[in-house]
Amino acid sequence: MWPVADGAWQIRLPLPWALTSVNVFLFHTDGGDLLLDTGIRSAESLLSLESALQSVGSGWNCITGILVSHLHPDHIGAAAELRRRTGAPVRMPDIEAELVKPLGPDRKFFAEAAAFLRQHGMPAPQVDALREQAAAGSGLAERLVVDGTIEEGEQIRFLGGTLEAIAAPGHSPGQLCFFWPEQRVLFSTDAILPHVTPNIGVHWFYRDNPLGEYLVTLDKLRGLDAGKVVPSHGRPFKGHREWIDNTRLHHGRRCDSIVDLLGDKPMNAFEIAGAVWGEDRSLFDRRFGMAESLSHLAYMELEQRVAAVEVVGVTCWTKA
Ligand SMILES: [Zn+2]
Repeated sequence: MWPVADGAWQIRLPLPWALTSVNVFLFHTDGGDLLLDTGIRSAESLLSLESALQSVGSGWNCITGILVSHLHPDHIGAAAELRRRTGAPVRMPDIEAELVKPLGPDRKFFAEAAAFLRQHGMPAPQVDALREQAAAGSGLAERLVVDGTIEEGEQIRFLGGTLEAIAAPGHSPGQLCFFWPEQRVLFSTDAILPHVTPNIGVHWFYRDNPLGEYLVTLDKLRGLDAGKVVPSHGRPFKGHREWIDNTRLHHGRRCDSIVDLLGDKPMNAFEIAGAVWGEDRSLFDRRFGMAESLSHLAYMELEQRVAAVEVVGVTCWTKA
């Protein structure tokens, strides 16, 4: 746990993944403490959070609001559990709240996910294995009651000043970042991350043009007078404009390399991801690779650089 600046704390919580930790944030207000994001719902993460809160004189009964930046399990996973422990309302972006509604034990969400993966070329045995892993995973299997939404431009007051909610779609459709103008701090959530490019993917719940939306988000964030970026994974850093310029170049190069792969025979996203990142990856990585390839393909389809064709029920891609 580290102070970001007066009145705001960064708390690092453990993740049992290749990405080993997620940052959540605590803001003191004169009416209790606000928590931004929750970590996953694991005993280890909840214990870490509890002891971090205690170390700054906070605790479950001091939390008066839970804000969630977006619906990924490392950000929202413990929200239902924390809502129970603290009695505090959970608020999140309206687009994400709509997506969370159908989650829960009925598994409809997983059936839609499976159909989507098959449509883009993932072989059935791998889809079934992923589906089992996902259904057993923490956080998604529990229905979350969302008490309210956070609107773009909303000013959230705390003792250190104000947090302005900034819509930052791309990594997820309704993700929010938060700018703290008094300290020139950008809480970039997963829109800007040090050392890695955030996953920008087409998913069954986010089909249109995530990469196009993300590039617009980057332009918007580039315009902020941020002295420091405080991301949801990794350490704070300076130089958001340089990061954004490099990331734009990265996505441009990725688009070019995907076009270069496409020859006479149409390829599906599963094959394209295998060619870009290798076929010996974990299922989890292959799914994210597919989603990421699809975001580049969808973007280039609008630019008429590639075209989609159906081949026996599977969406494949060719040069336009
Ligand atoms: Zn995320």
